[in-house]
Amino acid sequence: MEKIFNNTEVAFALKNNAELKRAYLLFKMISKPSLVKIGTSLTNFSIQAKLPVKGLIKSTVFDHFCGGVTVQDCLKVVDKMYTKGVSSVLDYSVGGKETEEQFDAALAMTLRTIEFAKERAAIPFAVFKPTGVGRFYLFEKKGENLPFTESEQKEWENVIRRFDTICKYAHDLDVLLLVDAEESWMQDAADEIVLDMMRKYNREKCIVFNTAQTYRWDRFDFVKKTHEIGLAEGFHTGFKVVRGAYMEKERERAAQKGYPSPICATKAQTDATFNKTASYILENLDNKMALFAGTHNEESNYMLIEKMRELNIAHNDRRMWFGQLYGMSDNISYNLAKHQYNIAKYLPFGPVYDVVPYLIRRAEENTSVAGQTNRELDLLETEIKRRKNAK
Ligand SMILES: Cc1cc2nc3c(=O)[nH]c(=O)nc-3n(C[C@H](O)[C@H](O)[C@H](O)COP(=O)(O)OP(=O)(O)OC[C@H]3O[C@@H](n4cnc5c(N)ncnc54)[C@H](O)[C@@H]3O)c2cc1C
Repeated sequence: MEKIFNNTEVAFALKNNAELKRAYLLFKMISKPSLVKIGTSLTNFSIQAKLPVKGLIKSTVFDHFCGGVTVQDCLKVVDKMYTKGVSSVLDYSVGGKETEEQFDAALAMTLRTIEFAKERAAIPFAVFKPTGVGRFYLFEKKGENLPFTESEQKEWENVIRRFDTICKYAHDLDVLLLVDAEESWMQDAADEIVLDMMRKYNREKCIVFNTAQTYRWDRFDFVKKTHEIGLAEGFHTGFKVVRGAYMEKERERAAQKGYPSPICATKAQTDATFNKTASYILENLDNKMALFAGTHNEESNYMLIEKMRELNIAHNDRRMWFGQLYGMSDNISYNLAKHQYNIAKYLPFGPVYDVVPYLIRRAEENTSVAGQTNRELDLLETEIKRRKNAK
């Protein structure tokens, strides 16, 4: 198969020379685990001690991995990426909130992003995180079937109301909606609500997409079961399929509490579950399914391209989307767009300090996933050299 992701001219067409060099330096720093560790501790300490580090964070990791502080900031990036056929998903990446006011603010922000998506072809999806609209503890308690106190019950009803308000709005405005997945010990309760939302709002087509983290060995069966329920009850089932971002935490908790780890024993097993789950959905597009494949793994993206070819699925079939995160794997995103595939990048935004946990996850991920940072560095270096030689 033609290795389309090696084309760096297409990958970095939107970056000028200075931006290429800045990205190179950033990935060079991130590639050093000790530097990421120190940087993470220093950042957390500085924020707590109220030291003025906002400017430093903003001009380095924030600007590389985020679209801006506000939706308005992001629109410039959205329009620019769309000139090359790459769409955006506005991702309000503020985590760790605990109060009803904060959850209502996140709800309002999500509704706004749905409106922006409605107005722009460049933004085909909206997205939200379950714990952005409700306390983690409540999801956990619900998932364990423990009884709520009276006030917790009221809070939980608010969580359901927020989910429903977002999904109904997306449905009414005809905007596709992704629901992110988080730690397994809160996910059961979220899955149950999302299933109900699909039941309500996916009657005519797939509007609400749940997320399947395929580092969990039970997720293929989960997707298949959800699909069977959908077929029996007459609604569509959409999934964002990813590998999963909380592996270390999952394994640690399972070991600490003495239950079997929900995570695949090996990377190869995760890869196989990813392939099997994504393939199942592709094979069932005509059977009321839709897929958003969120991955930076080149092999997985090539596998999906090949599978689409085998199944005769048009590159721009609206039931199949590829997805990467802003600031990562531009070689995949821009080359997919060049070949007319549907591709959308998550574009995180929010106040600089509130986005720090997201940024730390990105830095750690790029450090821990051997090969990914080196691949980014190789590609940037190739393009810098290519431009020099082309002069
Ligand atoms: C558009 C988009 C949306 C996303 N949404 C979510 C979301 O809602 N929830 C979420 O949790 N994550 C989400 N992610 C992050 C995603 O789950 C991965 O963390 C990230 O994309 C890295 O996986 P990969 O397929 O890109 O790359 P790869 O480098 O191929 O895979 C790395 C991943 O493989 C798994 N893995 C690594 N080592 C092992 C091992 N020894 N044993 C078993 N498994 C292993 C881990 O999941 C690790 O993150 C999203 C990513 C994208 C691109």
